[in-house]
Amino acid sequence: MSIGDRETANVNVVDGSLPASVCVYCGSSTGSLPQYAEAAQVLGALLARHRIRLVFGGGSVGLMGVLADAVLEGGGQVTGVIPHQLRTAELAHEGISEMIAVDSMHARKQRMVELAEAFIALPGGIGTLDELFETWTWLQLGIHHKPVGVLNVAGYYDQLLLFLERMSVHKFLARDHLDCLVVETEAQRLLTSLGHFRNTIAGREAKAGAAPPP
Ligand code: AMP
Repeated sequence: MSIGDRETANVNVVDGSLPASVCVYCGSSTGSLPQYAEAAQVLGALLARHRIRLVFGGGSVGLMGVLADAVLEGGGQVTGVIPHQLRTAELAHEGISEMIAVDSMHARKQRMVELAEAFIALPGGIGTLDELFETWTWLQLGIHHKPVGVLNVAGYYDQLLLFLERMSVHKFLARDHLDCLVVETEAQRLLTSLGHFRNTIAGREAKAGAAPPP
């Protein structure tokens, strides 16, 4: 299957082809190290090159802005999903291909999950973590079956990943659920790994389709 042939966004990517759309969660700040913005720039350029649509929070600030600008500069497609509340606060990116306005932060997360075939968390703050963990939890619950990845830029997520190991050792997180999270340090490798994602949660191997979130 070539990129763009997929009929719906509700697929579990198992054949090694790249997803047609990726939702990226990332900081509304650029962070303290230049590597963070560089990684957002590289990921954005790659999405454009592979014709992978970016779905994101619709903001013009921080890594969100860097990422969206990089996709647009590369000639790619960008869909923002933003609550009316943030849009009127004039933080919305005005140059993107499509902006979807929703009523609440909850509706936004749900819409982003529906629109994308895979998810990536770049470095970010609590907003990014909230989005990452909710999306990963929905995978764990079988609400969707799409790959969830973390781009661990400059070791930013090292301690979080250690803590997740601890959660698993202490039996609050099943090993197969932990193994579902795709972690890479380089953007192209992460996209490739998302394309080879297999749902390792027991009994859910390669199950396609997604029920709508509650
Ligand atoms: P944070 O990681 O706390 O900076 O929050 C970033 C995440 O929350 C992004 O992935 C967005 O989806 C959302 N978000 C936070 N602030 C904004 C904003 N000003 N405009 C759009 N989305 C935002």
